[in-house]
Amino acid sequence: MRKSLDAILGDLKEREKVRERGTWKQELRQQYAPWFDDLVYGFEFKDGWRAILVEAMGSIVRAVGDPQAYPSLRITRLRQDLGKLSFQIQGLTDEWRDAVNDAIQMASDRSLRTCERCGGPGSVRESARGLRYTVCDQHAVTD
Ligand SMILES: [Zn+2]
Repeated sequence: MRKSLDAILGDLKEREKVRERGTWKQELRQQYAPWFDDLVYGFEFKDGWRAILVEAMGSIVRAVGDPQAYPSLRITRLRQDLGKLSFQIQGLTDEWRDAVNDAIQMASDRSLRTCERCGGPGSVRESARGLRYTVCDQHAVTD
């Protein structure tokens, strides 16, 4: 039997939640519920950027208010893209758009200077296969 797209996305979401059990990611989902409920692919970056995301979420709450009061906001994708932390957000209103975009921009800029593996000072590198990633000297790999 063919599954609907909604069912497939639901399965993916469940799988991520199981994988995140007992980690800071689960705590963050609970703290900011329901804003991460549509994060189908989970947190697509390594733990070194955790502090950057936590700070960005703090700024977003200061702009928007309590997550429970604004359940229509959704962070739908959070990933490493071209060496930086990239956000996709739905449900922004004009009232908060600038403040939230500023928070995201700040997080993005900071990620370009922060090792995605350990959170130490890092810089953008390019792998032999042309992939960009941001790491410190210690975590620079040659693949
Ligand atoms: Zn590192």
